Amino acid sequence: MAEHRRELDVAVIGAGVLGLATTDALVRRGVSVTCFDGRTPGHGLSGGLTRTFRHRHDNERLVALAVEGRAGFGRWEERLGRKLIGSEGAVYAGMGPADVAGMVRHGVEHRFADPGEGGEVFPALATVDGPLLVDPGAGAIRAKRTIDALVSWVGDRIVNADIHSVTVPQDGHGVEIQTTEAIYRARHVVICAGTAVPKLAAGVGLEVPLESALHARPHYRVREPFRGKALPCWVDRSGAFGETVYGSPIGNLDTYVLGLIGLDVDIPFGPNGALAPGSGMEDHVRRVTEYVRRAMPGLEPTPVGIRVCVMTKLPAGSDAVHAWHTDGVTAVAGHNLFKMAPVLGELLADAAIKNQLPEILERAGEHALRPA
Ligand SMILES: Cc1cc2nc3c(=O)[nH]c(=O)nc-3n(C[C@H](O)[C@H](O)[C@H](O)COP(=O)(O)OP(=O)(O)OC[C@H]3O[C@@H](n4cnc5c(N)ncnc54)[C@H](O)[C@@H]3O)c2cc1C
Repeated sequence: MAEHRRELDVAVIGAGVLGLATTDALVRRGVSVTCFDGRTPGHGLSGGLTRTFRHRHDNERLVALAVEGRAGFGRWEERLGRKLIGSEGAVYAGMGPADVAGMVRHGVEHRFADPGEGGEVFPALATVDGPLLVDPGAGAIRAKRTIDALVSWVGDRIVNADIHSVTVPQDGHGVEIQTTEAIYRARHVVICAGTAVPKLAAGVGLEVPLESALHARPHYRVREPFRGKALPCWVDRSGAFGETVYGSPIGNLDTYVLGLIGLDVDIPFGPNGALAPGSGMEDHVRRVTEYVRRAMPGLEPTPVGIRVCVMTKLPAGSDAVHAWHTDGVTAVAGHNLFKMAPVLGELLADAAIKNQLPEILERAGEHALRPA
């Protein structure tokens, strides 16, 4: 091998929550691992203060992964000595018994509250017809705290470098990674590069059908009687208030973030990676604000902040996760993966050690899923 190529055992590309969790799992198993990121760790899809942890998914395999994810967050909380998931719980409108089949199968605690109980299970909410599903083990993930903990645990395994390409060299020796710092050869490469997974995975012949789109999350101030109270995470598929939305408390619990769910709510990037001229998020913010006015009298219906971020999605739906494998390379992509990070990190570490994809990752994204 030429001298200018540096040898590595495992290389993880991306220091978002998945790459960091994978690196941490490998370090704990005594594997020599280097994690590359061209930016500040945790500033890609994993950026921001909060994410929803919820058990409910349409695909029961994803419920199983969420259960494992929750247990993994519990272990991280023990190591850190601080909470990473709040005790707010999650409340869902527009769900029936069929929607909780996965929760029943995996023994996840839940109940259907009567509409009359709405004020108790979600104090800031208008009256909703139909039962509310309560997931008491859900809550708001302290996303920034999680990233900071993982960064401190993996320490100097993070190398600040952009990866140009991942390829299988003609001499068949390892996997080559071309970076802004050096050229490396690794025994195994795990690609956890968020929106860049399709481009990097294509270098080793893996086709990752991940689409990226722009998404707006306006924040609203919680009104006085409800301030400081642990409002639950929220998923409304009832249609009663004219939109399908998700929501979560953030930061000091005095603000609440909401976003739209649906096919027409995000602005897709074109094939050249650019947005169409004139693209804007004003209409999305207006729709969420109208929703707040109708459905959430406990919030002041004026946004106090807006985070515009990139959403990624596989064809199988907005909760789908999938991993791809070829000799020496594993890649992972999907959406709503923060809540799964502890278990995905372990599974991707398994893949890197055994050079083989764990069965649950191979099949997790098979079924078409409804969002949330
Ligand atoms: C608005 C929004 C709301 C969400 N809500 C939820 C939720 O409620 N619950 C939930 O569980 N999940 C949610 N998610 C999804 C979740 O945040 C993501 O699935 C998760 O953070 C993805 O982590 P990642 O590590 O795969 O990607 P990222 O965090 O994007 O990490 C990838 C890293 O790779 C680096 N990188 C990329 N290309 C290169 C390159 N060529 N060279 C070197 N480094 C590179 C990037 O700099 C980045 O740091 C939400 C996401 C968004 C955007």
